[in-house]
Amino acid sequence: MITQNALKQHAQLLDGSIVAERIKQEVKAEIEVLTQSKGVTPCLAAIRVGDDPASAIYVRNKIKASEEVGIRSEHHALPATTTTKELLTLINTLNSRDDVDGILAQLPMPAGIDESLIIESIDPAKDVDGFHPINIGRLAMGRPVLVPCTPAGIIELLDYYEIELKGTNACVVGRSQIVGRPMAQLLLQRDATVTICHSRTKNLPSVTSAADLLIVAIGRAGMIRRDYIKPEATVIDVGMNKVTDEEEVATLFGDAAQKRLDVIAKRGYTLVGDVNPADAGAVAGRLTPVPGGVGLLTVAMLMKNTLKAAKLRRGI
Ligand code: NAP
Repeated sequence: MITQNALKQHAQLLDGSIVAERIKQEVKAEIEVLTQSKGVTPCLAAIRVGDDPASAIYVRNKIKASEEVGIRSEHHALPATTTTKELLTLINTLNSRDDVDGILAQLPMPAGIDESLIIESIDPAKDVDGFHPINIGRLAMGRPVLVPCTPAGIIELLDYYEIELKGTNACVVGRSQIVGRPMAQLLLQRDATVTICHSRTKNLPSVTSAADLLIVAIGRAGMIRRDYIKPEATVIDVGMNKVTDEEEVATLFGDAAQKRLDVIAKRGYTLVGDVNPADAGAVAGRLTPVPGGVGLLTVAMLMKNTLKAAKLRRGI
């Protein structure tokens, strides 16, 4: 039997930080030109409701990235007691303000808020998350405008590493509105042959192990093991799971566990993807690490979408 400790790293790691940095630099350069030549500085309004610590960190990172690339930002931090009606009033105001180019409502919202209604109330031209039904519909029709950031970032990563999509046998595990479904649409648009899997898929490993490109977004730490992966496949791990259990870390990382245990000691948790890192490292041809892979691209693509929205709204 092969133990984790005996597995050797074989896969090339696809570094999301290089691609994310490149996207941000391109956005920054374009904004400088836009500001100088047209007097336009794009503006992103971020709305956060309640005290969810993860949401606070995500919004803080988005504001920080905005500052880095020269996007003006507004942070509307509202109490957990905010009603759907109050939120709709704020969104209506932001929709009607000509100086606001992008609106993002950080999810999840507190239980009492009707998230679908909130998403649908955002002007599709300012929907920089790409979650509005009009933007989802355009994507499904093969006429994308504002595309959800995580799958759009994955396409940028695949392009950067010159990974062939046309005709490739791609499998997406997960069918969420924010990752799995738009990911499958983008791959289809790039002429991949796409299979979408989910929790009701029968004999999942037999499907995933036939794929040359495997994209996993399920939210279960290390679930995708060796037998799920075709040798030499490209594996994109979207999962971001907080693992606190030291035994689980030892099982997942084998010889490399100590670094992760140090992270747990410092932060209380370590981030683990949906793909077993030792298994995938040994069998795949290319693999995105967690952290350092897909996660960084999401914020970079939000910047790119905000710039795009600013230009489209002004016919630039
Ligand atoms: P989600 O909305 O919870 O959807 C999970 C999907 O996985 C569902 O379609 C579900 O199937 C499927 N699934 C669950 N268990 C499964 C199993 N045992 N076998 C096969 N499919 C299974 O999750 P999400 O929002 O797409 O996020 C997925 C992961 O990506 C999470 O870890 C999240 O933190 C991470 N994420 C990362 C980023 C980033 O920037 N890196 C962005 C977004 C999300 P059903 O539809 O049948 O229930």
